[in-house]
Amino acid sequence: MEAMPPLETDPLARYHRQRLLPGIGDVGQRRIAESSVLVVGCGALGSAAAEFLARAGVGRLEIVDRDVVELTNLQRQTLYTEEDVHSGRPKAEAARDRLRAIRSDLMVRGWVEHLDSENVRDYLAEVDLVVDGLDNFETRYLLNDACVEAGVPYLYGGAVGTSGLCMTVLPRVEKFAASRTGRARGHLYARESATPCLRCVFPEPPPLAASATCDTAGVLGTATAMIAARQATEAIKLLVGAADTIDRGLWSVDLWRNRFASVAIESAPRSDCPCCGRRDFEFLDSPRQSAATVLCGRHAVQVTPRRRESLDLDAMASKLSSHGTFRREGGLLQGVLTRECDPDSEHEQVIELTVFSDGRAIVRGTTEPEFARGVYARYVGG
Ligand SMILES: [Zn+2]
Repeated sequence: MEAMPPLETDPLARYHRQRLLPGIGDVGQRRIAESSVLVVGCGALGSAAAEFLARAGVGRLEIVDRDVVELTNLQRQTLYTEEDVHSGRPKAEAARDRLRAIRSDLMVRGWVEHLDSENVRDYLAEVDLVVDGLDNFETRYLLNDACVEAGVPYLYGGAVGTSGLCMTVLPRVEKFAASRTGRARGHLYARESATPCLRCVFPEPPPLAASATCDTAGVLGTATAMIAARQATEAIKLLVGAADTIDRGLWSVDLWRNRFASVAIESAPRSDCPCCGRRDFEFLDSPRQSAATVLCGRHAVQVTPRRRESLDLDAMASKLSSHGTFRREGGLLQGVLTRECDPDSEHEQVIELTVFSDGRAIVRGTTEPEFARGVYARYVGG
């Protein structure tokens, strides 16, 4: 195939409307072009944020996601198409190709991986900031730990139902370390403008049975888009050197009830924070996250959460009631998920889920640890 002719010889031409903004200008646009951003999780938040950042002119995007595109993603995950569903493409690869089609000079890589304590530092070493597009708290707390340790800005976001939350974390640092690209991250914000971290505001991840997920409670595509737009905007502000304009609160929205709020978090008790106060990186230092072990000969995978949980199985049963027929049996809850099947299996394979009161689960009908982890994150929580 012949290469398409360039649209314009001036590389800044396509950003004309953005360069007109007094907060950006040509200087800001060049800074955006020199920047690198990591997007962790490329579902609804990650797709929308990555697309905004690619179109805004970010030089390099690194996208990490462990899942494949499914039909029920298309309602809100804006980078994907029906063709991606038919071919069962990994999201990281489908997103990479779509973003390249939007902007041919974008440097973008897609990593089909689960972010964990063994690889997170490598991803952070090469980027200026991180956008959170995750769907589980376990990985979020790991990412918060890693960003605070490395002094990398972390743009937290989450959405479920018709609501969303976001906050910008500028870690407290003694001295900014240079990224692997040689740039000291001190160009993004001054030490004095550090903010509380995720654990200052939410000291512990929510208990599993209490946390709604998009798969159990539903989610409005416009709620995810709104949070992603906020995250991308905060990223752009930081990249152009306008850290003084970031929102220093915890911002929340409920689009259905027309509620918007920004809660002041400056007084969050930072010195008591295990993460940014004591610098005890509990999630980062644990040898790995939740374990997924293939149970030999049983066509099943056991998923064990990183920390022992005391699960309320009745609450879990009502959360799962619209996703299959579940029954309580002593210390466990068992049932068949109506809308899951192992994409790698040759035959239609029914997925059975057994949840124990200690937070463990067995996913039957697959031998793929990543698929089982995904089922766990979607239905049990994470
Ligand atoms: Zn903290």
